[in-house]
Amino acid sequence: MVPPSALEPTGGGEYKIFTPYYRRWSAADWRPTEPVPKQLADPDLESGHNLLDLLPPSTNESGIVGGETAGRRRLSAWLDGPLDSYEDGRDTPAGEHTSRLFAYLHLGCLSPLEVALAASEHPAGDSFVRQLCWRDFLLQVLAARPDASTAPYRDRGDTWVDDLDALQAWQNGQRGFPLVDAGMR
Ligand SMILES: Cc1cc2nc3c(=O)[nH]c(=O)nc-3n(C[C@H](O)[C@H](O)[C@H](O)COP(=O)(O)OP(=O)(O)OC[C@H]3O[C@@H](n4cnc5c(N)ncnc54)[C@H](O)[C@@H]3O)c2cc1C
Repeated sequence: MVPPSALEPTGGGEYKIFTPYYRRWSAADWRPTEPVPKQLADPDLESGHNLLDLLPPSTNESGIVGGETAGRRRLSAWLDGPLDSYEDGRDTPAGEHTSRLFAYLHLGCLSPLEVALAASEHPAGDSFVRQLCWRDFLLQVLAARPDASTAPYRDRGDTWVDDLDALQAWQNGQRGFPLVDAGMR
């Protein structure tokens, strides 16, 4: 919604703490949404290649229905009711209080700007829009510190453990840390 380099703290670099970033972000101008393009140019493929051949085979292990239409449906169902209890329920990932829009946002089926504009019209929308700001906050951290995607952002002397069983337990939501496990499941 706000490009990574658009907001800088006094002294330069990236914002390292969320709340000051959120204050600047809230006061920043959001760009208008783009209209639907009239025409899309085909990607420049070598002759003999078909775009569909380049895509990975589609799987749906998550049970989530993909695409813009499904994302928009989910968004309007969310705005129509569950958003009311978001402020109190959002920190309980095992419950039904969050939007479950993460995949649509992450994969670009829904524009975060459009989602935020729609939510900000809603009486209970502020706390949800604040969470969307976390995406931009983390993106400006990653833009300044690409290494933070694979290494600790603040080095506290932690060491990496290569443990396949622990990795699988984490992936299956069986690591033994309730918040982490609930979020993964
Ligand atoms: C204590 C706690 C810590 C979290 N830490 C992270 C984190 O480090 N990185 C992360 O990506 N998600 C984090 N989350 C958010 C979590 O990933 C989502 O709440 C979860 O995936 C459910 O998705 P949702 O679409 O239902 O989320 P919702 O709560 O409905 O949020 C809507 C969207 O806002 C964005 N969002 C919400 N919270 C965060 C956040 N904290 N950071 C970044 N984007 C966010 C996501 O795109 C999400 O889809 C955290 C949540 C909690 C409760």
